[in-house]
Amino acid sequence: MNDAISPDSAALHQSLVTLDTHIDIPWPPGPSPFEDGPRKVDMLKMVRGGLSAGCFVAYVPQASRTVANEDAAYARAIAMLDHINAMGRTEAGVTARVTQTANEIEAAKRDGVRAIVPCVENGFAVGTDLSRIAQFRARGARYLTLTHNGHNALADSCNPRRDLGDREAEHGGLSPVGRAAVAELNRVGMIVDVAHTSRDTMQQAAEVSRTPIVSTHSCITALCDHPRNMADWQLDIIKAVKGVIQITAVSAFLRPHAKPEEAGVADFADHVDYAVKRIGIDHVGISSDFDGGGWIRDWRDAGDSANVTAEMVRRGYDRGALAKLWGGNFLRVMRVVEEAAG
Ligand SMILES: [Zn+2]
Repeated sequence: MNDAISPDSAALHQSLVTLDTHIDIPWPPGPSPFEDGPRKVDMLKMVRGGLSAGCFVAYVPQASRTVANEDAAYARAIAMLDHINAMGRTEAGVTARVTQTANEIEAAKRDGVRAIVPCVENGFAVGTDLSRIAQFRARGARYLTLTHNGHNALADSCNPRRDLGDREAEHGGLSPVGRAAVAELNRVGMIVDVAHTSRDTMQQAAEVSRTPIVSTHSCITALCDHPRNMADWQLDIIKAVKGVIQITAVSAFLRPHAKPEEAGVADFADHVDYAVKRIGIDHVGISSDFDGGGWIRDWRDAGDSANVTAEMVRRGYDRGALAKLWGGNFLRVMRVVEEAAG
């Protein structure tokens, strides 16, 4: 277990805009988000853990690439976005508000309400119909993760799905449709998320996108060699395009082959430290991947979020640095993307 959280670090934590940039939801819909139940993130745990905002993702699993499967993936993503939007309500004494902009996320903090940011994970739901991206945006979605495990019509993944017939690379990065998808994401004001993509896809997305790209949930290859993590040269690209890598609480990304109980916030902070040393405090952030496989022994659910701040304070991060890590950097990217939308 963690050392006790000092009163100073607890107060600091409570005062920050704290945005977790990758949280899954159960699907088909599971326990209510207003019930302190089995979900790792619900509104009561967010309050208890001083977590002010979360990106909740409409995640669609990869399947074989038939038109019927792509249509079903799109329908699922829309249904999930509608469900995420319905989380914006008051129940059990907690108010949650759906927020679409950086300003709205900050206003929610000032108003003492939880900010819900809808997002979409896996461009498989786009198929080859780029008009679907505007439909996601119309439902508040602020980022699209280009791939999940397995190549799709847009791009290559870092984890080819041999069971679906994937070769190591199919498009050599972004497909022509994928390049057009990046342009459409720029146009509608959605962030390009390269978590889960191949390294070629990541590099090409950084070149093609008019706005900074992000990884919403990845860690550092130099500390843990995993396909989902970022090599040093990729970190350098993130810095060059003014993007951000959101270090995530997936144990096997933090320590080789670690189970959740075998990794903790100290390991998490090692990855943050490494990224900050390499590319600076302006390009690093925090995510959990809760309810999607993420948790570690002392950050088991959103209720433990203050433990992350406590560890960073012990390592000498001050208020300004923590404000950037916990949301300021991601909000900066959101604003750039909002302003570039046309
Ligand atoms: Zn993911």
